[in-house]
Amino acid sequence: MSSKRDRIVAIANQKGGVGKTTTSINLGAALGALERRTLIVDCDPQGNATRGLGQDAGEQHLYHALAGLVPAAEIIQHTGFPFLDLMPSNDDLVGLEVELVDQERRQYRLKEALGSVAKDYDVVLLDCPPSLGQLTVNALCAATEVLVPIQAEYFALEGVSALISTIERVRAGLNPSLEITGILLTMYDDRTNLSKDVAEELRRHFQAKVFQTIIPRNVRLAEAPSHGLPVLQHDIKSSGSVAYRKLAQEFVGREQVS
Ligand code: ATP
Ligand code: MG
Repeated sequence: MSSKRDRIVAIANQKGGVGKTTTSINLGAALGALERRTLIVDCDPQGNATRGLGQDAGEQHLYHALAGLVPAAEIIQHTGFPFLDLMPSNDDLVGLEVELVDQERRQYRLKEALGSVAKDYDVVLLDCPPSLGQLTVNALCAATEVLVPIQAEYFALEGVSALISTIERVRAGLNPSLEITGILLTMYDDRTNLSKDVAEELRRHFQAKVFQTIIPRNVRLAEAPSHGLPVLQHDIKSSGSVAYRKLAQEFVGREQVS
């Protein structure tokens, strides 16, 4: 089944450790379980999405596609999970930012690489690194929308304004149709007032943009990557698995409005 328009989603927040990769892997796997053809692009030199899916970047990976050394289609790996493919990365990607400095259209490398392959997927998820550098800008230029994971903790909103202004800048120039379609609260602990306060603050700031689905803090989510598995395959009944499957439903439900 294909959606009305292909969705290319940058999962971005320059703050480290807020759940970008966990969301990429598990939203991706949950969309795959709904038979949405899904591609995860590991845009982070840390390669966490690649390893968290039990894959190895191998000889040719995102660096080679963005440097124009191989066609993007040739670096795609099938993950073995239903309807879920991967463009892998490793730390070679660090060098790309330097190499791109003087190049024309450097912000569009990822967009151009995806051009020939995005049509094969209903959803493309771009797992961004924790910075607002060239790789994140490339993701924002390639994307149709942005999903921002925010951790339920003190200073949760710190830095979000820098991200929003980067998104605004990209929208004003490089990619006018970019939309923020969702703010996702992650690592929520309903036993603490702090988590509740952060949830309230987010809804006050971003209103309907905040997903109804909240991702709880759940140890199964934290341990699944060490087995190279999405949480759906690691422990389908866990609260983390239930939450990401619910998020996938809500995400698909937002197709019509976007
Ligand atoms: P980076 O900025 O380094 O790329 P990130 O934003 O991608 O980090 P993750 O790697 O997804 O963040 O998560 C950071 C750590 O928190 C990981 O060890 C992950 O397993 C753990 N984690 C993420 N979400 C949850 C959750 N809901 N419950 C428990 N642990 C979680
Ligand atoms: Mg990450």
